[in-house]
Amino acid sequence: MNNKPVLIIGAGISGLALCLVLIKNGYPAILFEKEEEIDQPGAGINISPNGNAVLFQLGIKDKILNTADKPATIQLKTYKRGFTISKQNLNDDSERLFSYPYLQMQRKEIINILIEEINNFDPNIIRTDHSFESFSENDKSVLVHFNNQKSFEGSIVVGCDGINSTVRKIILPKSENKFSGIIAWRGLVDMENLSKKTQSLSSTVWMGKNSHFVHYPIKKNKFLNFIGTLRSDKWESNSWHQIGEKEELRNDYKDWHTTVKEIIDNTDMIYKWGLFENKSLPSWISKRSVIIGDAAHPMSPSYGQGANTALEDSILLYRSIIHFKNNPEFALKKFQKNRKLRTQKIQKASKLNTKLFHLNNPILRMIIYSGMYVLSNLMPFILIKSKWIYKYNAFKIKLK
Ligand SMILES: Cc1cc2nc3c(=O)[nH]c(=O)nc-3n(C[C@H](O)[C@H](O)[C@H](O)COP(=O)(O)OP(=O)(O)OC[C@H]3O[C@@H](n4cnc5c(N)ncnc54)[C@H](O)[C@@H]3O)c2cc1C
Repeated sequence: MNNKPVLIIGAGISGLALCLVLIKNGYPAILFEKEEEIDQPGAGINISPNGNAVLFQLGIKDKILNTADKPATIQLKTYKRGFTISKQNLNDDSERLFSYPYLQMQRKEIINILIEEINNFDPNIIRTDHSFESFSENDKSVLVHFNNQKSFEGSIVVGCDGINSTVRKIILPKSENKFSGIIAWRGLVDMENLSKKTQSLSSTVWMGKNSHFVHYPIKKNKFLNFIGTLRSDKWESNSWHQIGEKEELRNDYKDWHTTVKEIIDNTDMIYKWGLFENKSLPSWISKRSVIIGDAAHPMSPSYGQGANTALEDSILLYRSIIHFKNNPEFALKKFQKNRKLRTQKIQKASKLNTKLFHLNNPILRMIIYSGMYVLSNLMPFILIKSKWIYKYNAFKIKLK
């Protein structure tokens, strides 16, 4: 690596984490964000032990714990009668099995903490109002161009620009996101507006026919965050900003348990978006460019791994860069080699979770739910099933 900066496109979770780990370890970096102000909406986000392994080792453990909620339990329920199929300890077991907690928080809280850390280090590193347009590369460097006519030279360019990545379109002009046939509703409800019974619920997943509904408290129990997904033939925008109609949401969940209906009735701002996928891409890299996070491997939210895999990527990319600092092209290849299989597996597992939460066939539902009921009385099966995901420590895993 020469002494030119790493140019990072996008101030989402992957871009900010990559920037922080680089500058903390003495590597120059500049981060470009297209928005004028980084004040994105975004509701709740799950940070599982593998994500917290990154955040804590980045030195922001206390700040994260000061804002995040630590759900004591997770429960799975049937959508109509509210029968509890499984109720398990989440955090005691998570810390015992994986050394890190399972947290739930608002996306913008993580973003704000990461920005604060970077700005404390040097307030000129993050450049807002810079929308990436294109780059050219040669054996020595990369030249990156923005919509405001500015250009910057760097050692490599990293596309952390999310599901609609422009960097990806340059590396792989033919790749296109495809609507997955599933739409998602999300919203926040002021806890004070809910009944005591609903307020007391920890992380809860209601499983229905072709749809599910998840909710959990965030902001130290001040708000309840929900996300509901269901099958739809109708194509929806994949923008996180698209406002949804309450009547439509009510109608989608009209046969559900009163708790779900109570949550919907008390929501003020509702967002609706289409879930898009981009099957395993043939490559994430060119000579001096790479995509990470949602740009490289968008996934269904049913395993809550979008942000966590983005955090893992940022550390594995940083480690590849420093390990092969004299050969950036090789560093990018190593990064890809170390991350592709795992993220493909997690993409598949997320899709499978959606299927499990959306079981349509009543006989299959009865068999699977009974199995889950029995298992959950024997062991913390949700954590054990997810062990291969949660035990991953991006700072420690051996580079292949
Ligand atoms: C506004 C928003 C709200 C979200 N809300 C939730 C939520 O409530 N729950 C949840 O589980 N997940 C949410 N996510 C997704 C979640 O953050 C990601 O799945 C995960 O964190 C992976 O992050 P990422 O860094 O790869 O990309 P993202 O977090 O999507 O970040 C991409 C960043 O790149 C910027 N960008 C895009 N194009 C350009 C360009 N051409 N030039 C410069 N910058 C560019 C975007 O403005 C954004 O800041 C949200 C994402 C966004 C963008």
